[in-house]
Amino acid sequence: MSCIFCRIVAGEVPAEIVLRDSEVVAFLDVQPLADGHVLVVPRAHVAQLEDLEPRAADALFRTVVRLARPVREALGAAGTTIGVNNGEATGQTIAHVHVHIVPRWPGDGAGSIHTIFPRHIKRKLPEVGAAIRDRMT
Ligand code: AMP
Ligand code: ZN
Repeated sequence: MSCIFCRIVAGEVPAEIVLRDSEVVAFLDVQPLADGHVLVVPRAHVAQLEDLEPRAADALFRTVVRLARPVREALGAAGTTIGVNNGEATGQTIAHVHVHIVPRWPGDGAGSIHTIFPRHIKRKLPEVGAAIRDRMT
């Protein structure tokens, strides 16, 4: 098994686990962006969010919601930035779905999700909306 997150899920690689259940494991990021940076992963090895089984997706998001308050309160944070690098092109370095929960404080020097995009917008909203709706099954 080469995936580091599968190895953490299996207990073969040590991690600071904060929650473990039948579908999901959550542990501290070993190179935290801030104190209390947590990763939530499905037990099943799935590379991208859109490939998750509905049950695993439900469990993953439920666990993110369940952890948001304890993570924030444990660190005395004002909020949390919650995000997913979904696919190699987005900067995903480990091909096993993981949700980042990163505590935030006023004036902590980090930006909002808006700050990562240069806003190179070429297409009109109705055209984009129609294209997405056409692909929904
Ligand atoms: P991403 O860039 O979204 O794929 O994030 C991968 C994250 O996994 C990074 O923040 C790493 O610091 C973290 N990471 C890598 N290896 C480990 C590990 N063994 N234990 C905990 N976190 C890890
Ligand atoms: Zn894996």
